[in-house]
Amino acid sequence: MPTENKIPVYLYNTLTRRKELFIPLHPPRVGIYSCGPTVYKDIHIGNFRTFVMTDWLRRMLTYNGYDVYLVRNITDVGHLQNDTEESGEDKLEHEARTTGRSAYEIANYYTQQYMRDADEMNILPPDLSPKATDHIPEMIAMTEQLVERDLAYIRNGNVYYDVSHFSGYGALSGNTVEQLRTGGHGRQQMEIADDKDAPEDFALWKHGGPERQMNWSSPWGTGFPGWHIECSAMATKYLGEQFDIHTGGIDLTFPHHEDEIAQSEGATGKQPVRYWVHGEFLVIGNRKMKVGNAQEADDDETQEQTIKMSRSKGNVILVSTLKELGIDPMAYRYLLLTAHYRSKLNFSDESIIAAQNGLNNLRADLAILPRETFTEDTPWSAEAEEMRTAFQKAISDDLDMPVALSLTREAARNNKIAPAERWRLVLDFDRVLGLRLDSVEASTPRVVSEEVQALVRQRDEARKARNWKLSDQLRDQIRTLGFEVRDTAQGTELA
Ligand SMILES: [Zn+2]
Repeated sequence: MPTENKIPVYLYNTLTRRKELFIPLHPPRVGIYSCGPTVYKDIHIGNFRTFVMTDWLRRMLTYNGYDVYLVRNITDVGHLQNDTEESGEDKLEHEARTTGRSAYEIANYYTQQYMRDADEMNILPPDLSPKATDHIPEMIAMTEQLVERDLAYIRNGNVYYDVSHFSGYGALSGNTVEQLRTGGHGRQQMEIADDKDAPEDFALWKHGGPERQMNWSSPWGTGFPGWHIECSAMATKYLGEQFDIHTGGIDLTFPHHEDEIAQSEGATGKQPVRYWVHGEFLVIGNRKMKVGNAQEADDDETQEQTIKMSRSKGNVILVSTLKELGIDPMAYRYLLLTAHYRSKLNFSDESIIAAQNGLNNLRADLAILPRETFTEDTPWSAEAEEMRTAFQKAISDDLDMPVALSLTREAARNNKIAPAERWRLVLDFDRVLGLRLDSVEASTPRVVSEEVQALVRQRDEARKARNWKLSDQLRDQIRTLGFEVRDTAQGTELA
């Protein structure tokens, strides 16, 4: 049931560093590209924060009547262990070498795990999940275009992007060539720097070798693609040379997205993305919860400061870890709703337990509401319509999900709205929140029949007369009708 009344949507654009009115290129269609997981290890809940953000963005636009087409890639090659310096081994090849499994087996395994966890988190599947390894020809073609346009050069079977030839470099992240050369941030110490013209240049194609499992032939010899080229190649292929929104975690702004702009715009001459939307980190503070099968986390260590969740910091929590702790993945989603996506969010024992309690309370409020069937054209009451407008405004204002959540909690309890309509209203909001509130079962109050009431009266009489035998017989009879009895000073109580 798409909402007919479109209201203005505002998004914070990393490229312009301000909140902007969202105007799609080809309404009602909206094309979104979202950087997906690198499938060499389990995807942790910090990564899922970004995927949930994109899920809310998509659901919000759908609620507003847009026709969203979402592409989220699977990175299964070329992502190096140290991406900022572009050094180290390919993460998948490293995992293969150290575990004795094939790189393809590893990629398949972690892709399946990721999809399972994304489903647990109620993240709607993308319209398309292209894999990097299925798009090597497209990446080679784009690299050839960049060589032809004098934006890339070939050295010893490697192809490098010539950053000094792309004047727009640094527009997204602020890391211009001058900035990089003064050593502020970037690729200064590189293991493979000796055949590059400048340290800020980055690899589009790398020379391979027999030590690798993943190699392809190319015009420059056997090798494999650099990490950044896959997103340019796949986004252009599936969304066109220009599309509406690109999302990812804030750490992807540089170098990944800066390089993506250089590649795509370099190849096509067009600015590829209208709105860049980046999600902030999940940080870990004061975790004391014991985890049965800890991944790499050191659970005995209480971390006083808050630090970003990352594999290298050793504080990785998975969706399965939450479940082992008795935390519903929807409680984690609820926790994510409590902070704006551009703010850091603290994950701690206290915060996740508070989220679980908040979700339980909301479910309890919903369980007592009667269920009625509404058709799409059943009109809303004036009060409900007012709440819907407030909700729509909140989500459309750069995804103000904390306000959307508090409106949902208010809707469940708003006694100016009829109980059955409250249920309908909360489910309408949950099309965006995605807390699976439609699975909350009604707690049907049990009806005590005349027959049971009569038996209870007889039993009270029997107890007064100290006729224990009859009292016990009546208790058993009541039990067969589905009620337990409890003796109190006031007489028989049913449970
Ligand atoms: Zn990407």
